[in-house]
Amino acid sequence: MAHRVVVLPGDGIGPEVMGPAIEVMNKASEIAGISIETEEALVGGAAIDAEGSPLPDSTLAAARSADAVLLGGVGGPKWDDLPVEQRPEKGLLGLRQELGLFANLRPAMLFAPLAQASSLKSELVADLDILIIRELTGGIYFGEPRGIEVRDNARVGFNTLIYSEHEIERITRVGFDLAGKRGGRLCSVDKANVLDSSQLWREVVMRIAPDYPDVELSHMYVDNAAMQLVRAPKQFDVIVTGNMFGDILSDCAAMLTGSLGMLPSASLASGGLGLYEPVHGTAPDIAGQNLANPLATILSVAMMFRYSLDSARAADAIETAVGAALDAGFRTADIADEDHPRNVNTAEMGQQILERME
Ligand code: NAD
Repeated sequence: MAHRVVVLPGDGIGPEVMGPAIEVMNKASEIAGISIETEEALVGGAAIDAEGSPLPDSTLAAARSADAVLLGGVGGPKWDDLPVEQRPEKGLLGLRQELGLFANLRPAMLFAPLAQASSLKSELVADLDILIIRELTGGIYFGEPRGIEVRDNARVGFNTLIYSEHEIERITRVGFDLAGKRGGRLCSVDKANVLDSSQLWREVVMRIAPDYPDVELSHMYVDNAAMQLVRAPKQFDVIVTGNMFGDILSDCAAMLTGSLGMLPSASLASGGLGLYEPVHGTAPDIAGQNLANPLATILSVAMMFRYSLDSARAADAIETAVGAALDAGFRTADIADEDHPRNVNTAEMGQQILERME
């Protein structure tokens, strides 16, 4: 049976990076002998222009019935003056919410030839390959009560950090599963020395750990995790953590790799449906010029094969080809350096990847 992939190119450089990514997807599915049906739909500013809504019902319906959704990016100056509720970002937030995407996967990978792009010493980050799993639909960003009010004649602002056992168990099981498929090590990050919510988190993680005897579990306080990420990032394999800690740590880990144009991400729902997108935005400053780096989107396609379409073969073919193209010295402008001045555009980088896939 064919896998259904809904493609949402979106705005700005979204459509430009999506072109090569789709070609790479088609070639990878051929290599792995799997069949994919794609359907393209509108989201973000493009959907506002065509249909007056950043997330048309038809797009949501298509996404709901898909195995995976591949997104370019949404937003741009053209829509910046719209009221918040009507802005392109609402399309993406709506998708996350409606599809129940509770697990955000942010790999921080650094292909060795790009090690000098990092602000850390090359030897600390060359061949870095860690995965941060962030709980995306709960915790302090959504907890109630929240608000700003007057107490004892002074204004106070407050939020609630709340996690149910069910939410903790669900995200932690994703962590154990993925650690089992990778290096076999899971580090749960919390603040159990201060927060009650984290004490429950740690208790639940420890309760389910025996279900995964092949995964080595460790715990780390979030402040230490932030230090360790910049001191010795390669000590980690998979990190699982709550919404706010994950928000901060995943951005910190992303910058270890030095380049926004290289970073893929995934958000998963129960049952395997996933949304795959580059970490970067729509880069209005370079949109329409065939300059954007398509590798973050191409690597998001690799994640899609691995996590929603269950094809490590296709994912490996893509990731290996990306490494080989970089080894051969090909660079888009954003990852160019003195030894490798800019030499390919968006479409040409896609071609270099295609030629190296086997
Ligand atoms: P951005 O990631 O779009 O761009 C930041 C800088 O990185 C820019 O200089 C850009 O040219 C460069 N850059 C980004 N991706 C690149 C790529 N693939 N190749 C080469 N260079 C690249 O972030 P921003 O400028 O803060 O936001 C621009 C727009 O994107 C805004 O409308 C914002 O709301 C939107 N945005 C969307 C998403 C999303 O859809 N997930 C995420 C972030 C920002």
